[in-house]
Amino acid sequence: MILPDSILGVLGGGQLGRMFTVAARSMGYRVWVLDPDPHSPAGGLADRHLRAEYRDEAALTDMGEHCAAITTEFENVPAETLQFLESRVAVRPSSRAVAIARDRILEKTFIRQQGLATAPFFAIQKEDDLVDACQQLRMPALLKTAQLGYDGKGQLTVSTPEEARQGFQQLGANPCVLEERVQLELELSVILARSGTGETAVFPVGENSHVNGILDTTCVPARVSDEITGQAEQMARKLADTMHYCGVLAVEFFFARSGELLINEMAPRPHNSGHYTLDACLNSQFEQQVRTLCGLPPGSTDLLSPVVMVNILGDWWRGGIPPPWEHLFDHPQTKLHLYGKQQARAGRKMGHYNCLATELDEAIHTAEQVRAALTMMST
Ligand code: AMP
Repeated sequence: MILPDSILGVLGGGQLGRMFTVAARSMGYRVWVLDPDPHSPAGGLADRHLRAEYRDEAALTDMGEHCAAITTEFENVPAETLQFLESRVAVRPSSRAVAIARDRILEKTFIRQQGLATAPFFAIQKEDDLVDACQQLRMPALLKTAQLGYDGKGQLTVSTPEEARQGFQQLGANPCVLEERVQLELELSVILARSGTGETAVFPVGENSHVNGILDTTCVPARVSDEITGQAEQMARKLADTMHYCGVLAVEFFFARSGELLINEMAPRPHNSGHYTLDACLNSQFEQQVRTLCGLPPGSTDLLSPVVMVNILGDWWRGGIPPPWEHLFDHPQTKLHLYGKQQARAGRKMGHYNCLATELDEAIHTAEQVRAALTMMST
């Protein structure tokens, strides 16, 4: 067990690293953040910010020598970095789990191997692979790069074999998956925390809506039957168990109009759709990250109140002017979280807010009122 006052390391100093840092420091740990960006959101809040590249051997050696355990805030950290650290210090989740989640081909193949459903897909390593894939999949389909895609980036909708070929070239002729477009009823996610000894605590299922491929809101409890939430929870547990996973794992689902529950992807870390836990659960997903990293049992994931989380994007800044936050503070059950990012750009996640209420409908209503006030649009 790693106890307070020990040093914890985190690879990546974005908003997820920042919220991990806040949780760890309030629990009495010291935190080192590795991120080359001098203005990284987590860097300023850490005990130490190592401003170095993720492959910088001196920085990694330093972390390996001083940190009691190391975690990551993103899956695209180089595989060699995690392996280098793993040979020196506890790294959770493991490099193996991160490697699966980083690559859509490995990830979807792994999910299928566990007998769990995904949208029908084909791995596209080279252009010729599109011939078979286009014949067998229903069009339109989505072509997604196997690696480095997030928030809808690195993906295109294609309707014909010719469009698929053009799309593949447009995406740099890198390995991709071609995947059928699912008729969505809605999207769900499950976030769980699993200790090294297999104790697992699952957060309530979130109902997510996306705009332009980016998460916009998460509502909890999700408005689906207990049977569906139970199924989603079981599927997420199965993935975590078969990977002998240690840490926080997020699993995103498509609930199709056909009634089928399909896994879209997983993330080996806290997830944007779990930010509601900061205010609406006894333990947040970041506290769970600290606990599982430190060899402690996961805490309770009880939901204290219905909640709606709304992402605040850079688009809400007009000509560099921040939204009129004072309107948000008119709502006593709404909590603001800003990530300390200096530049507001379209599509950039700048923060989020959580609206709590006794009934979900009331939380939804407040969330929309706050959105209208912050974006200065009429409801
Ligand atoms: P992803 O980067 O794969 O998580 O995709 C981002 C978002 O695009 C998802 O959350 C969905 O809203 C949408 N999307 C991605 N793949 C599909 C699909 N096969 N069918 C329908 N919608 C999809």
